[in-house]
This record gives sequence, C-alpha cells and structure tokens, in this order.
Amino acid sequence: MREGSLEAPTRHPLDWKNPEFWDPAKAEKELERIFGICHGCRRCVNLCTTFPTLFDLVDASPTLEVDGVAKADFGSVVDQCYLCDLCYMTKCPYVPPHPWNVDFPHVMLRAKAIKFRQGVKLRDRLLSSTDAIGKLAAIPVVAQTVNAVNRNAISRQVLHSVLGVHKDRELPPYASRKFRSTAKPSPAFPVRDGKNTPGKVAVYATCYGNYNEPGLAHDLLAILEHNEIPYVLVEKEACCGMPKLELGDLQGVDSLKKQNIPVLARYARDGYAILAPVPSCSLMYKQELPLMYPEDADTLAVGDAMFDPFEYLVMRRKDGLLKTAFVTRLGKIAYHVPCHSRVQNMGQKTREALEMIPGTEVKVVERCSGHDGTWGVKAEYFDNSMKIGRPVFRQMAEPKPDYVSSDCPIAARHIMQGMGEAAAGVEKSHPLALVRKAYGI
Ligand code: SF4
Ligand code: SF4
Repeated sequence: MREGSLEAPTRHPLDWKNPEFWDPAKAEKELERIFGICHGCRRCVNLCTTFPTLFDLVDASPTLEVDGVAKADFGSVVDQCYLCDLCYMTKCPYVPPHPWNVDFPHVMLRAKAIKFRQGVKLRDRLLSSTDAIGKLAAIPVVAQTVNAVNRNAISRQVLHSVLGVHKDRELPPYASRKFRSTAKPSPAFPVRDGKNTPGKVAVYATCYGNYNEPGLAHDLLAILEHNEIPYVLVEKEACCGMPKLELGDLQGVDSLKKQNIPVLARYARDGYAILAPVPSCSLMYKQELPLMYPEDADTLAVGDAMFDPFEYLVMRRKDGLLKTAFVTRLGKIAYHVPCHSRVQNMGQKTREALEMIPGTEVKVVERCSGHDGTWGVKAEYFDNSMKIGRPVFRQMAEPKPDYVSSDCPIAARHIMQGMGEAAAGVEKSHPLALVRKAYGI
C-alpha cells in the first residue's frame, strides 16, 4: 500500500449517534489499531505529550509493540490529548481518504466521551461551564471577590487541593460589566456587500469576550464602526460548547447546539457574516458542530456564515472595502498563531492584517503553546502545559517585542506567564486591540 496520501484530506463525520460509538470494547479496538499505526510512524512525537506518553508505554512493554501495552494504560494517553487537531490537520499522511483512516483526535474524543459517561470530576464540570460560571462571576461584587480569590496564594492552594486547579496557573480575570450589556449599538450604515464578504455583521461575543475580556469584543465593534460596517449583537447566545466537547461531554454540546443554532441560523440566512472574536468558538461552528451534525442544514448554514474576525477583515480588504489608513506605528509584535486558528485552514489572516500597518514588524510563531482552553489549568497537566509551551515562550521573547499577541487570549496569557522575566516591559495585546490602536480610534 502506498505510503501517505497525495489527495486532499477529508474528514468523516463523528459517528456519535451510532450505538457502536459508545461500546468500550469496540473503541478500545480502534484505539489499539490507530496506536499501532502511530507507533510505526512516530511523526507526531513533538506535537504534544500524548504521543510521547504512548511511545514510552510501547517502549517499556515486553513486546515493544502496542499489543504489549496494558489496555488500562490507554486512558493515560487519552488524558494527555486536548483535541487541538494539529496532528490530523498538519502532520498525518494517513488521514482519509487514505485507507488507513487515521483520525487521531476523533478516536481520542470517542474515548473521552465514553469516559465522561462513566462519571467526571466536579472540577471538570465547573471548568467546562464557562457560561454559567461567567454569568455568576460577572455580578460586580462577585467578580471582584473571584478575582481577589484568584490572586490570593492561600485560596489558590485551597483551589489546588480541593478542585485540582493548579495554584500557579494565572487565571483570566472576570469583568464586572459584561460585554453584552455595555456594547454600543451600531450606527445605521448602509449595507455594502463585497464579492467575498457580506456587508453586515452579527457579533457572537463568546463567553470569554462577554465575561473575561470584554475589551476585545469592544475593539471588534470599534473596527467595524470605523469601516462603516453595520453590526448587531446575536440576539441570544450561549457557550459554543467547545469546553464540553474537549471533555467528551457530547450531551452537553448537543444541548448548547439546540440553544445556539436556531438563533444563529436566522442571521446566516439573512445574509450576515457571523464573527466570533475567539478562534476556538469560531472553529466550533465552522468544523466541530458540522462534523457532529453533517445533515443539519441550519448547522451547515451557520458554519458557512461564521468568520474569524481577521479572515473577514482581510477578505474585506480584497473587496476594496477596508480602510487601510493607519496612524499609529506599532513597532515589534511577537504574534502567536493558535492551533484553533491554524486548523481553520484560512491562512495567516491576522498576520496579513498586522502587516498592513506601517512601522510594524511581525514575528510569527506557529506552534502549540500547550494551554488549550481548560487543560493547562488542571493541576495534573499544568507542568506538561508549561513544557509544551517552552519553545513558544523562547521564540516569542527572541525579537524583544513591544507586544505579545495571539488571537487566543488564553494562549497569550499563558505565553506571558511562560516568558517569565523576558515579559518585563512587554505589553500583552490582542490583535484586535492592536488594529484599533493602529487606526487611532
Ligand atoms: S489532537 Fe492535538 S493534543 Fe491531541 S494528539 Fe493530536 S496534536 Fe496532540
Ligand atoms: S497521527 Fe498520523 S502522523 Fe501522527 S504519529 Fe499517528 S500516524 Fe503518524
């Protein structure tokens, strides 16, 4: 059989409605099959700690093959995977249509889903409930209390011991006023559709943009207004479901999908571009939900209407409808491309936008920072998360930048933490904030 595939990769839908998907014995057999192929290949060894965990188990087994690894140890491989999709999207030559049909992230997700049904820690349920926790924490006094608790060494030690949230992980603050209650309505600009871009935008704020860093969503609105693009806030939004997906909570994903998709589908059918300022959330609508609901027309329509903000802005420029008069030079930006942007297969749109700004040098680091949404927060994975990020921390510090920036605000915080002393005097700034600054608005 031919090594590797020369054809464009395709992805099979997630077969989660098939009772066989949930059969532990069948899932274990599939894990063993794919682990065997990976052991013979080992190409992904430096992507994350999932593959080294697997290969160490194989190398320590009596047969030096996957059949010598105790099945009970398969879970330790699955636990290391945070479903970034990089192995599938950027490395693996055996993905479909290759007959070996290796979809490593999907077999990990299947194993996680089976484990989730068998019971999951309270900590994991809490961390994946970003909307519910955000609603609670965004109450003004509660926000200040949560932020104070997160900064206090004694309470962090308690959180570490009781909940398993690592005491050294720098956590994002909660804003006392959420984005959706403070967002400015759009001026009444005329709708100018471009060849590649709808001329009106529906903003899906995301849990992070709504509760943690409303500034990045406000920056998006300011950029849209500056470019005379009329916008609305999505009428009613819940979490996209990515944190639940990463935990294997497919019922949780299903329930959020039932809340979001009917609302978003109306915007998609009314000709809006839907913009989400956090890459994990746009990826959820562009890829993960369509793979779970391949026959649901509304889900597919939302996937087609969903844009990363920079994908939209750069295409808007192509349409001749983006203002490119920038008034502020930004100096050196160390810009990190998060995995969930990379796997959207749209090219480096944020870099392209930042490079339009005169007097601005962009150093691009395209490598996993090792945080993921909630994985790097957990006590048992924190050390590995810092280890995976080490090359990124070093490369981001190298140009002695004025700014550290990533489309993923969680990755940016993690990178600043990992840079340690090298982060002194460097400003962490989201690319949307940088563009707003460059426009001088
Ligand atoms: S999906 Fe990401 S974390 Fe999981 S095995 Fe692949 S590269 Fe590693
Ligand atoms: S996922 Fe593909 S490329 Fe990576 S180790 Fe396995 S077979 Fe090799």
